[in-house]
Amino acid sequence: MREEPARPARIEVRDLKKHFPIQRPLQGGRGRAVKAVDGVSFEVGERETLALVGESGCGKTTTGRTILRLSEPSGGSVRYLRPGEGEPIDLFALPEREMRPLRKELQIVFQDPLASLDPRATAGDAIGEGIAIHRLAHGRGIEERVVELLGRVGLSPEKRERFPHELSGGERQRVAIARALALGPRFLVLDEPVSALDVSVQVQVLNLLEDLQAELGLSYLFIAHDLAVVRYLADRVAVMYCGRIVETGTAEEIFEDARHPYTQALLAAMPKLEPGSSRGSAPLPGEPPSPVDPPGGCPFHPRCPVAEARCREVVPSEARPGPRRGVVCHLAAGSGTS
Ligand code: SF4
Repeated sequence: MREEPARPARIEVRDLKKHFPIQRPLQGGRGRAVKAVDGVSFEVGERETLALVGESGCGKTTTGRTILRLSEPSGGSVRYLRPGEGEPIDLFALPEREMRPLRKELQIVFQDPLASLDPRATAGDAIGEGIAIHRLAHGRGIEERVVELLGRVGLSPEKRERFPHELSGGERQRVAIARALALGPRFLVLDEPVSALDVSVQVQVLNLLEDLQAELGLSYLFIAHDLAVVRYLADRVAVMYCGRIVETGTAEEIFEDARHPYTQALLAAMPKLEPGSSRGSAPLPGEPPSPVDPPGGCPFHPRCPVAEARCREVVPSEARPGPRRGVVCHLAAGSGTS
């Protein structure tokens, strides 16, 4: 766990919303929407890793994709501060033609490299394609850059001739990372980048990501359901539940002093990042609610071991127990009851 230096925000997300209209109304669902992301705000600083965590379906992947406009937003803003520039750019206000050159700097690495890499393209082709499209090198220069990038992610030059099915899971993810690095990114969304890997390989890829951040000054939005992985890499943590952030803090604050009952339950279920380890002793109670019809009041109340009567009726407001700390729970110190 690392200290959190004060850094300017590379990415600033405010009140982000992504709602999906319900196309086929069930049980009177006409005109309703699934609020996959419903008012999410956070910042990611220079050379900082913000982990966005929560169970499957909580909206974290949709958040990452919407920030990069791989999915168009329903509301909110994302501002991106380019290196050396004083004023951030409002990404959601840009027409697509002005967004296109920025995409080089805003990259994503997906969970499953076997799905994200073209099975008919060699590792060299996968890495070199973006270099050629964006005219970042020409002729033999592309080949040289591919070999350099393979080395940077810990792969030998010979791997450039291999197809995805000829590589191990860890090697494939290294190729996917090299492909993202090829375009000179500043901000990377890492969407469950080690979830599909064996535990021993997870640690190697996490070490690689940490080294690359230090060398290249990258900012990461690290999306994960596994808090053991998050602990390894994150400077700060934002915990999502049912499309909203319910707790934020430094990694140390979250792991040593979690205030929200949902974060506490995630921590109790946390596995160790060691080969052969089993899950934590306390599985999460109940099931996540349907995003089509979430519970009223605090959406966590049907699963919360300390819920009170007001939790069923009143949406909790955010308590701010520290400068960059937030807890959305009635029981958190200073929480209002609006
Ligand atoms: Fe539990 Fe109530 Fe806090 Fe929600 S507001 S997490 S139900 S105590």
